[in-house]
Amino acid sequence: MRLKFDAITCGGCKGRRLLDLTCTDCGERPKAQEIQYDLQRRERLVAEFRTTRKVPDHTIKPVLSSLTGDLDELLGQVLGALSSTSRSGRTSEPLVDAFGEMDQFVAHWANLLPRPHRNRGKVIGLSLRELAEGLELFLDALCAPDIQEAKGLERQGNKKIEQAGVTLDGIAELNAAEAAFISG
Ligand SMILES: [Zn+2]
Repeated sequence: MRLKFDAITCGGCKGRRLLDLTCTDCGERPKAQEIQYDLQRRERLVAEFRTTRKVPDHTIKPVLSSLTGDLDELLGQVLGALSSTSRSGRTSEPLVDAFGEMDQFVAHWANLLPRPHRNRGKVIGLSLRELAEGLELFLDALCAPDIQEAKGLERQGNKKIEQAGVTLDGIAELNAAEAAFISG
């Protein structure tokens, strides 16, 4: 994600400081009329997204064989929507669409797989929840008041997504090995 923050020359120390924030060097307070325009745009889009976010159907059962291909595609869509929203964009539609599908996918996997894959399904469900939490942190990063906080949130989000990815890759290998075994 690329997050734009506007800076001005500080009246107190003549260094650069972010608009609408207290100067980190000299402590000068921002003036009442200062506005971070791009941050406002991002905040508006995320707020709009949160009020229109689709509620997933929790009754649909997951299908083990469709795990990785679907997930890679959905994750790509969500990351793409986050990235384009971070740079520009006037509507929350890309976020609503991409997260709508991802939320639905995560909701599927919150349901139990039938035996003999019940335990595997549980692990997948937990990993996907962790991945979803990571993506939530990216949404928070879009609304962070400054660059440090945004980067911190992005780092936390990345960590969760990576952890989930390692577990899910392991399961995908297991699935592939089993499929090979069954087909001989
Ligand atoms: Zn200053």
